[in-house]
Amino acid sequence: MPVSSSRWAGAVALGLALTLGAGLGAAVRGEHTVVRRVTSVVTVDSKPSATPRANANAAVSLPQAQVRRAAAKAGFAFLDPPGLNGEVDRWDPCVPIHYVVDVEVGPPTAAADVAWAIGQVSRATGMRFVDDGTTKEQPDDGRKDVRQTKAGWRWAPVLIALVPDSVFHGKGLHADKDSLAYTDPDIYSDSSGDAQIVTAQVVVDADDLTDGGHDDPGALGPTLLHEFGHLVGLDHVHRSGEIMQPDGGGVTSYGPGDLAGLHYVGRAHGCIADAALPTDSEDFPKS
Ligand SMILES: [Zn+2]
Repeated sequence: MPVSSSRWAGAVALGLALTLGAGLGAAVRGEHTVVRRVTSVVTVDSKPSATPRANANAAVSLPQAQVRRAAAKAGFAFLDPPGLNGEVDRWDPCVPIHYVVDVEVGPPTAAADVAWAIGQVSRATGMRFVDDGTTKEQPDDGRKDVRQTKAGWRWAPVLIALVPDSVFHGKGLHADKDSLAYTDPDIYSDSSGDAQIVTAQVVVDADDLTDGGHDDPGALGPTLLHEFGHLVGLDHVHRSGEIMQPDGGGVTSYGPGDLAGLHYVGRAHGCIADAALPTDSEDFPKS
């Protein structure tokens, strides 16, 4: 197998399990190695995180501080603190994001709810999402982030899965016990501060939803809007009217801060130059 010479190569697994997505990024940033972070973000119905990271460091370099301040003012937060160069965890918005859906145990509207929520996040980010169809694949903390296809190696499609309560809180998944859903993005970063989300799992406890549709804050549609915010790089905020509040904010649509954040991590911010390749993955088979 070819050995990649990319700056993203040499990934190290951190195998992080558990909860509020926070904290981890700060430890990873600034190291001079390329690191894969497996960050779990636990969401709706979970308790608010105790320490907002936005206030964690006053002595950061200028781009970092500026980006963080701008986000706080606009009413959104990043999944991890910006890197030294001000870059944040996000997808390469110039490449379509493929996803597969496993909604067999969900409400009758589940497939339509997924499509509806994808449409919202696509519109707000300017990013293109491609539905690769249904799957029987079950979410798994150990899910490989690359796939061999007829066309060559690809990043694994985002897995959007509804599972019964027994699976959601069972072995192999790291759902918080108070949560209704979580998103687990795979993020690669390098020493310059660039970071890239390459795939993710979005897992919903189908038995905890109030309903299908998107008229109720606890229904599948709004739950997915919140999770898809995490999927594209947003963390929780504590501001009324935003769906990225830890408990979903009791709303059924993106608020102004949510939309500003989605816009920031999306197409408007430009492509990622020299994006991470599947051959950079730690799951790419070594020769
Ligand atoms: Zn959340």
